[in-house]
Amino acid sequence: MSAHAHHVDPLSLPFVPIPASTSPDAVVKLTLLHCGELTARRVMFRQRTTLAEMAEPEMGPIFAWVVEKTVEGRTEKYLWDLGLVSDFKKFGPEMAAASEVMASINIPESAQLPALLTNLSPPPATPDTLTGIILSHAHPDHAGTLNEFPASIPVIAGPGTKAWMDSTPDAEKPIPPWVWSHPDFIGEVGDEGAKGKGKGWQKVGSFEAAWDFFGDGSLYLMQAPGHCPGHQVALCRVSTSPDTYVLLGGDTCHSRHIYTPFPTPVARSDIACWAHPAEGPAGSTKGTHTMHVDVAEAYKSIAKLTRMEMEANVMCVLAHEGELTEELGFGIGEMKQGWEKWKESGWKKGKEKGEHPQPKY
Ligand SMILES: [Zn+2]
Repeated sequence: MSAHAHHVDPLSLPFVPIPASTSPDAVVKLTLLHCGELTARRVMFRQRTTLAEMAEPEMGPIFAWVVEKTVEGRTEKYLWDLGLVSDFKKFGPEMAAASEVMASINIPESAQLPALLTNLSPPPATPDTLTGIILSHAHPDHAGTLNEFPASIPVIAGPGTKAWMDSTPDAEKPIPPWVWSHPDFIGEVGDEGAKGKGKGWQKVGSFEAAWDFFGDGSLYLMQAPGHCPGHQVALCRVSTSPDTYVLLGGDTCHSRHIYTPFPTPVARSDIACWAHPAEGPAGSTKGTHTMHVDVAEAYKSIAKLTRMEMEANVMCVLAHEGELTEELGFGIGEMKQGWEKWKESGWKKGKEKGEHPQPKY
C-alpha cells in the first residue's frame, strides 16, 4: 500500500509559465462561501507525532466558491463545490450513522447551500441565476446539497468521476445515489456539454492537464489526482496588470501545513495516517487510513500545489484551510469578496511568513 509515500520536491517538477492575459476582461470574480465546520473525531487531516495527539479532534471549515465570468455585458455564474448538508440524516440512516462515527458538523440551515446564497447580502448568485455547478470532486462535503438545486442546472466534474460513481454499488457510493442522479446533466470536463470554450488539455504551471474553460485563461480546470477519482483544482485569474491568480485547491490536501512552507519538504507536515474507529479507540493504535485513495499520487499533486504557491502572483486556498477564516475575518454563513485585490491587500503575507492562526472552536 502506498501509505508510505512521501513528499515530492516541488522544484523537481516541470513548470510551464502561466500564459499572460491578453485582455483586461480575461478574469473571473470570486466569492468565497463559508458553508460550516466539520470536526473529525480524531486527527485525519495532518499527521501529528504521538498517538495521544492523533486522538484529538481536528476541525476544518467547509468552503465553496461563486465564480463569475462577464463576457460582453453578460455574466455567467458557477458554483465551485456545494458544501455539506446541515444534518447527516439527510443522507439516509446508514450513511448518517457512518458519518456520525467519523465527524460532527456545525452547519446551521441558513449556512447550507443553496439557502446560504439568498441569506447573503447582496446574494452573490441565486439558484435561478446559476449557469452551472463545478465540483472539485464527488465527496459529500463538496456535493452534499446537489439535490436541493434545480435539476436543470448542469453539473461539471473532473474526468474519471462518472466511471467511479457508476462502478460503485449504490450502498457504497460516497454520495447517496438519489443525490448524484438528481441533475439532468452531469458531464466531465472536455465532454460534449462540459467543454466550455476549452479546446484541449494543456500544461499550465506545474499541472500537466489544464482545461481553459472560458477560452481566455481566466479559469483553468486542472486534474489533481490522488484524493479520489476525478479530483480537480481551479486556477482563477482574478486581476490583470499585473496578472494574479487564486488556485482553488479542493482536497489536494487538508491542511496548509502539508503544502507549505517551501521549498524544503522536511518543514511540511505529512498527510495524516489514522486509525478508522473500526481499528480501535482513538489513540489506541496507529492505523492505516488516509484521506486519499492513492497517497503517492496525492503527494505529487501536493507538490504541484506547493510549486504554484511559490509563484508570487498565485495564492492557493484549500477547501478546508481553516487559517484563512482567522486571517480574513469571516465566519460560518458569511462570504469573502475582494479576491481581485488579494495581493495588494496582503492576504498571502502571513502564510509566506509562516504565521498560521488556528481557528477557534
Ligand atoms: Zn473535503
